[in-house]
Amino acid sequence: MLRFAFHGIPQLTISFDRASDLMRICILGSGSSGNATLVVAGETRVLIDCGLSARETVKRIQAVGEDPMRLDAIVVTHEHSDHARGFPALSKMLKVPVYISTAALEACNIGEKVRDVRRGEAINSSQDFEIGAFCFRPFMIPHDAADPMAFTVESNGIKMGIAVDLGELNALAAERFRGSDLLIIEANHEIEMLRACTFYPWALKQRILSRHGHMSNDEMARFLLEDFDGKAEHIVLAHLSRNTNHPDLARLAAVQALQERSPLFSADAERRVKIARYDGPSEWIEL
Ligand SMILES: [Zn+2]
Ligand SMILES: [Zn+2]
Repeated sequence: MLRFAFHGIPQLTISFDRASDLMRICILGSGSSGNATLVVAGETRVLIDCGLSARETVKRIQAVGEDPMRLDAIVVTHEHSDHARGFPALSKMLKVPVYISTAALEACNIGEKVRDVRRGEAINSSQDFEIGAFCFRPFMIPHDAADPMAFTVESNGIKMGIAVDLGELNALAAERFRGSDLLIIEANHEIEMLRACTFYPWALKQRILSRHGHMSNDEMARFLLEDFDGKAEHIVLAHLSRNTNHPDLARLAAVQALQERSPLFSADAERRVKIARYDGPSEWIEL
């Protein structure tokens, strides 16, 4: 918006509409009961993963003050039901295209419903794609799915990174995450709690612990200690297990790792670290 004010000497006052420059992120839910993250920039609204039911997703979008009818696309990272459960119904309900890899779509165990899916681009883990104001840069991650991917998402010079189902944050992930203003990373379990868990079968424990499974608090902390570039003001720990982790343990591991690196990073560690909830949406994070 331009405002001109003349008081003897001509003055020019320029006020920018900041809202259109911002990237806003809300994690609608995170964990094995369902993952979904809403990202907004300008007039573009994208849902990353849809692991909640379509009804619950709509409810949570409304609860954070957004109109579900204005959603532009659903992007699915991989076929596991905690990331893909709701997308066929949501796509149909809101008439919204789904961006998913062909391998993941074929691997989805949702049979007939897949035919109703309004397909966006057939994405894959090695090709960038654009949706409205966003540029998605996917990359391959170690996880036991057909073509699992993480992304950085950029708009207007603002960058976020999201990687929530992966055995480890390897060198590729660390390199792609460099320069991010926000990171959403997995802190699935505390290794000792997982080992001691009496009702997980041995095979499941092995799967979770493997290089293609899920990240422990230790691995998350190692990334922050060794490979994190220090830029992101917001580090959201996500996909916490309700059975084998505790938010306080995950937070402590992250804060301690960041504190070990001070005074390298100026901002304080406690303020940077946030925990995504499984049972409801996070606060909006504005970048
Ligand atoms: Zn998965
Ligand atoms: Zn998952």
